[in-house]
Amino acid sequence: MRIVIVGGGVLGTMHAWWAVRRGHQVVHLERELEARAASVRNFGLVWVGGRAPGIELETALRARELWAEIAAEVPGVGFRANGSLTVLRGAAELAVARQVLDRDDAGRRGFALCSADEARALNPALRGELLGALHCALDGAVESRVVLPALRARLAESGRYEWLPGREAREADRAGVRDDHGARHTGDLVLLCPGATLSGLARELAADLPLRRVRLQMMQTEPLDEPLTTSIADGDSLRYYPAYQGSALDQLRAGSPRAPIAEAHAMQLLLVQRLDGGLTIGDTHGYAEPFPFDLHEDPYQHLVTVAEALLGRPLPRVQRRWAGVYAERTDTGHVVLRQRVADGVVLITGPGGRGMTCSPAIAEATLEELQP
Ligand SMILES: Cc1cc2nc3c(=O)[nH]c(=O)nc-3n(C[C@H](O)[C@H](O)[C@H](O)COP(=O)(O)OP(=O)(O)OC[C@H]3O[C@@H](n4cnc5c(N)ncnc54)[C@H](O)[C@@H]3O)c2cc1C
Repeated sequence: MRIVIVGGGVLGTMHAWWAVRRGHQVVHLERELEARAASVRNFGLVWVGGRAPGIELETALRARELWAEIAAEVPGVGFRANGSLTVLRGAAELAVARQVLDRDDAGRRGFALCSADEARALNPALRGELLGALHCALDGAVESRVVLPALRARLAESGRYEWLPGREAREADRAGVRDDHGARHTGDLVLLCPGATLSGLARELAADLPLRRVRLQMMQTEPLDEPLTTSIADGDSLRYYPAYQGSALDQLRAGSPRAPIAEAHAMQLLLVQRLDGGLTIGDTHGYAEPFPFDLHEDPYQHLVTVAEALLGRPLPRVQRRWAGVYAERTDTGHVVLRQRVADGVVLITGPGGRGMTCSPAIAEATLEELQP
């Protein structure tokens, strides 16, 4: 088959990966000169532990295997199996971790409960006050800013892959795609991966999709002068990831209100060290559109305070701040929206905050579904 893929983010690129793998010819369009949306703005966390039981966890587990396999072939994606520590600072947070550890699937998730000393043995940079930590050995990380070009360079070696940046798809049908230069790209199938761009072509093909958009604020520091051997999350992340739901979390919510700024911006702290030593730190979650076009300073101050408390030292100077937007499904029980929106055209978007993690498995499943 000749497959036209629209969207140069991680979903489009992973679909190109599997399509070429299966022997297809791929034409890949991106409206920008380089992908610059959610897929390069994220933490690069391959986050397995916190996933909801069922299809979400199974997809993340499969994706985690695939990231390791892809990295063996394309080391430039920067995958490392560094694991994560969710730092527990209060008795109610510890109770949530204990409840999760009691469940049958704790082992499959790579979870273990650590004392403060055990957590520091795993990550000596954690010098702040803590009661303990939930270790997830399966969590990993990739270098979001370089994953896409690294994968494309490998795809180009196949001789069956054509990358066309600066081309916005304006029409898509069973014959292929027409771009904003007036060029037609013929194909047997169109895979539309527009990310959070739900206007334009996506809306013309399918209105009223079960999707919403979410805006996050992020920052990155100058290099830290020591390694951060695991990624780090704070106790607020227990409120965010579905794996932690249960009576202990209900008690945490009822008895331990979050800092008002964290509540107002639906925040958690996630912290991952880049390969150059810098720390990527976030995040906030904003759901009300229209989204602010500017960055709000107060949440950043909160993130710095929490990160410095966990590390027990000042952070290096913040070098970059940015916001990013992703699309997520509003109906539960699905990892992504994968919908035939016209004859020969399949729309794939809405993986939410797990898109970087799950993209290899989502794309593998699409190709499998199309051609078992
Ligand atoms: C700040 C932030 C942090 C995150 N952290 C994580 C994380 O650590 N781990 C994790 O698993 N997930 C994370 N996510 C979620 C993850 O980044 C997204 O789910 C994922 O990147 C979505 O990929 P995508 O390819 O669907 O979308 P995008 O990356 O948005 O790519 C879509 C692309 O399509 C292009 N496009 C749109 N319309 C057209 C058109 N008509 N013609 C041509 N091109 C078009 C756009 O220009 C864009 O480049 C995070 C997201 C954000 C915003």
